Amino acid sequence: MIPVRGYDGAKVAVLGLGRSGLATARALQAGGAEPLLWDDSPESRAKAETEGFLITDLTRNAAFEGVAALIVSPGIPHLYPTPNKIIARALELGIPVDNDIGLFFQSFATTEWDEMDVPPRVVCVTGSNGKSTTTALIHHILQVAGRPTQMAGNIGKGVLSIDPAQDGEVVVLELSSYQTDLARALTPDVAVFTNLSPDHLDRHNGMGGYFAAKRRLFAEGGPDRAVVGIDEIEGQFLANQLGQGPGDDRVIRISSGQKIDGFGWSVFARKGFLAEWRKGRQVANIDLREVSGLPGAHNHQNACAAYAAARALGIAPKLIEGAFQSFAGLPHRSQLVGERDGVRFINDSKATNVDSAAKALQAFPKIRWIAGGMGKDGGIAALAPHLGSVVKAYLIGHSARDFALQIDETDHEICETMERAVQRAAEEAQPGEVVLLAPAAASFDQYPNFEKRGEDFTLRVKALIGG
Ligand code: ADP
Repeated sequence: MIPVRGYDGAKVAVLGLGRSGLATARALQAGGAEPLLWDDSPESRAKAETEGFLITDLTRNAAFEGVAALIVSPGIPHLYPTPNKIIARALELGIPVDNDIGLFFQSFATTEWDEMDVPPRVVCVTGSNGKSTTTALIHHILQVAGRPTQMAGNIGKGVLSIDPAQDGEVVVLELSSYQTDLARALTPDVAVFTNLSPDHLDRHNGMGGYFAAKRRLFAEGGPDRAVVGIDEIEGQFLANQLGQGPGDDRVIRISSGQKIDGFGWSVFARKGFLAEWRKGRQVANIDLREVSGLPGAHNHQNACAAYAAARALGIAPKLIEGAFQSFAGLPHRSQLVGERDGVRFINDSKATNVDSAAKALQAFPKIRWIAGGMGKDGGIAALAPHLGSVVKAYLIGHSARDFALQIDETDHEICETMERAVQRAAEEAQPGEVVLLAPAAASFDQYPNFEKRGEDFTLRVKALIGG
């Protein structure tokens, strides 16, 4: 755990008692603060109470008396579409509103670091898609390189739950736009921006707000090295703004598909090969075509991002190449869960938005596509150019009928449930085809989260085909 510094003896309110909220409360207590906890859900409050924490009803007007800061969980809106009432009250009173990421950066470095040979470093990964894969891949490369390393953030473990840093350690954090938007301190040594496509627009009041939230990771005086995906105009803008000019190698530009060799430092993937260029010269070339843990052009973008971050940390190209080979990939992202009679079953439950679903639809030639759930703003019209590979769609969840209207030229069937969709797709699939779960929608209408949806798909597939 990282004890939170700066609030010794002070009352600090904590709103939202999920995994990161409870981890925050423990870390505040370890740093000498008095955490006052609240969550709208009685079950979450009861759980915190069993840990011995003090529950304080933050909805009461007097609740903020003597409170030094309010720490909130990422799921709770602080501005849009409407601010949570408790947060609005803190803002009105001028009480600093922060999150666990801000507390982490404020508390991570200690005086013990003065005695270390190699000071610990923090790598942060943000972007619309590929964050988790890139984060896990950087962590894996560091492990293969024998460097002490820990991974946390949006990928699973609350940032304040990690152990204090060792000599030479590299902490790799995945940060969502919700997290970067609110953190009062954000000072990574290496920051990575994978790509940008519309997502969570309600929480950021549109695309501009969404990009602004992610850009905070690169604020002035920010990282020593920035790894920036330039396949969208926003990434080009960010890279442009951070560098002194195209030759400035503090910015490592990355791309999947474009040859970018006219810069101080760049890494790109084309036709299945990754290339690193530095100051007008090619430094390395890696064949990604047979790397089973990173299939498809989208994963090649992730490989470029992780490669660049690892290079910024001084790791040699050959070592990174070896680490790619041993990377197993992450569950629920283009994950092969079964095969029968030449039909492969792929779980990409994490494809919760149109952009990631489009990438999955481009990765396979003949697809029995299971899609639907809680549809997002903008619908799935943008998927039209990628439906050529879809033999038939099997639609589930809240958005099933709505999706059916939007893809009416493609053969489809309303299945409502995962069970029926898997059964129908498996019945109809021909050898050489892929049954692909890539919902292009959130899971919350039928499941608590995308993991549970992916597990349900996997169980249904296994029940049908055995294994
Ligand atoms: P994140 O953590 O940003 O959501 P993940 O690595 O978990 O990213 O991948 C999320 C979804 O996006 C998965 O469906 C995955 O197949 C797809 N995906 C992964 N990398 C990329 C990328 N670079 N561009 C677009 N889609 C991607």
